Amino acid sequence: MKVVKSIKEIKDILVSEREAGRTIGFVPTMGALHAGHISLVEQSVKDNDVTVVSIFVNPTQFNDKSDLLTYPRTLGQDCQLLEPVGCEYIFAPSEEEMYPQPDTRVFQLGRVAEVMEGAHRPGHFNGVAQVVSKLFDIVKPDNAYFGEKDFQQIAVIRAMVEQLHLPVHIIDCPILREPDGLAMSSRNIRLTPGQRQKASLIACTLKESTTFVPEKSIQEVIRFVIDTINHEPEMEVEYFQIVDGNTLEAITDWSDTAYPIGCITVFCGKVRLIDNIKYPSVK
Ligand code: AMP
Repeated sequence: MKVVKSIKEIKDILVSEREAGRTIGFVPTMGALHAGHISLVEQSVKDNDVTVVSIFVNPTQFNDKSDLLTYPRTLGQDCQLLEPVGCEYIFAPSEEEMYPQPDTRVFQLGRVAEVMEGAHRPGHFNGVAQVVSKLFDIVKPDNAYFGEKDFQQIAVIRAMVEQLHLPVHIIDCPILREPDGLAMSSRNIRLTPGQRQKASLIACTLKESTTFVPEKSIQEVIRFVIDTINHEPEMEVEYFQIVDGNTLEAITDWSDTAYPIGCITVFCGKVRLIDNIKYPSVK
């Protein structure tokens, strides 16, 4: 496994790999890797001849300065996790390498980028599109792997790939969870032990809420989820919406879509956690 910091070097390496007829799988990350990230890498290793993992804490997608400053950076540990699973290349550029000049591109990716995270984190998806489009241009992967934990992000990436006609397959991978149900996240290590214990309430409540379909209305399920979580001190729901999993538009009746998804973000103390759940289809 080789750690590469320069764009030119990784491009040259991957030109040779392609010339040798090898397929390239790519897993973009911001590091502080956990088993959730590793599951994406394992899928890529299965599907492709060569796997590239990028580790780059992308400043343009952080709308909150302190979140960027406190984001965990653990490159040494990340390398140790990646070595045994068969990742060939880690691309870990500096900020200057990725953005020698400010990236002023503005993407228009439609409604999927405007709702939920788009509304609560202004500029976030534009920053994601900036960095992922640059990374795709550098790596030119056949397949790129994204986690369903960031459900909306996958829809945004697909919209970007379609708009720019990029020759890459986007592959979504299931959410990996801790034994108590909490979705694995690099931000979990910022929770205090007390907050960490409480954080499992998010996944438990979402799971319980799926048992209410279709007897309870969408509004009742939303109320249940928000009230149950907000009742716990230090926990505050930022938003919870039940949407069509394809369009990400809010639904008002279970029969509105065959693919209902509940998307939530919760502040647990100062740490912003994100999760989602598929509801049974009644259509
Ligand atoms: P991040 O480093 O947070 O930008 O995440 C990099 C990739 O890993 C994204 O595609 C995430 O959706 C994915 N990911 C993060 N956490 C999980 C998880 N618990 N299960 C599956 N994929 C995940």
